[in-house]
Amino acid sequence: VKPFSRKLLIKGSPESDESLLGFVLRLTEENGYESPTWILKSAGLDPRPLSHTCSSLFKSNEKFELLAQVTGASVSDLIRLTYPRIELPGSAPRYLFFGSPLPQFVIRAIRPKICPRCLLETGYCRRIWDLLFVTVCPIHECALIDVCPNCKRRLSWIRSNVSVCLCNYDWRKSPRQPIKKSELIITRHIYQLCGLPIPEYCALSVNSRNPILALNLQSFVMALLFILTRYAGITAGGRESLGGKGGKQNSELHILCKKAFSFFEEWPERFYLFLDLCRIDSTTSFEPSHGLKSWLYRGNMEIHVNLYKELQAEQYFFMKKAVSNYLAKKYR
Ligand SMILES: [Zn+2]
Ligand SMILES: [Zn+2]
Repeated sequence: VKPFSRKLLIKGSPESDESLLGFVLRLTEENGYESPTWILKSAGLDPRPLSHTCSSLFKSNEKFELLAQVTGASVSDLIRLTYPRIELPGSAPRYLFFGSPLPQFVIRAIRPKICPRCLLETGYCRRIWDLLFVTVCPIHECALIDVCPNCKRRLSWIRSNVSVCLCNYDWRKSPRQPIKKSELIITRHIYQLCGLPIPEYCALSVNSRNPILALNLQSFVMALLFILTRYAGITAGGRESLGGKGGKQNSELHILCKKAFSFFEEWPERFYLFLDLCRIDSTTSFEPSHGLKSWLYRGNMEIHVNLYKELQAEQYFFMKKAVSNYLAKKYR
């Protein structure tokens, strides 16, 4: 067997907001290979995680010198496309997504999504699509696709063409699934927090009484996740599966995100409705001066103790305060 050539005939550089695997896939297509596996192997990277964890994206010490040689891109250009692991004191490891430290399971590189119109216009996969909460394209006001409309299989990185499914269906020709402007807010806001340009015509008037719109990307994601996981009945352990291989489809996530976001609107009335749903049952009356923490511990309500712990950071003070006010009203 002839060893795979160390250099591609057609080389290239990644776009600034291109996904790393999307870039490898684009060169795979341009060079006529069967799947990105060939390029990854020749760059000394383990191609197996392509279908499992996409782990190359999450290592802070992954060696990209060979991949740079093979593809013609610079090492720094390639590293810029990864989500390097960082250790933060008192927290699980985080991964830098457009400069913000996020938990790994919200960066869902393993389940590729695409916007058919973006592929038609630009021909590359955007890195922002890797984020769990990016369910739509704010530029084309349509849903992202993670299931092929033709063969109904979930999209995979193991393919030979950026825009064409293994079943030969060209996603660029798939019917547009329009999304109402009001349902673009979350993704549009994430684009802005990531410093990605949004065309003028996408401008939306935003409800100023939604406090999470004032948060940075990390806190915005954590606040949404906080409500979404509880609303969907996802336990702390189940969170990993949220972003994992078998996790929810993009269309389901879109509905959950929308719902979670809505509980922050008309603050704090709709958040109180959410707390009603949490069914906080307690026979112990709540005395605000004794504090939320002691009340939760006395009530031995494990889930709410965890809730309290998660809300410790200063940026969630508005939520902690709302929980306090809610309990004071309810358990006087
Ligand atoms: Zn698009
Ligand atoms: Zn297909």
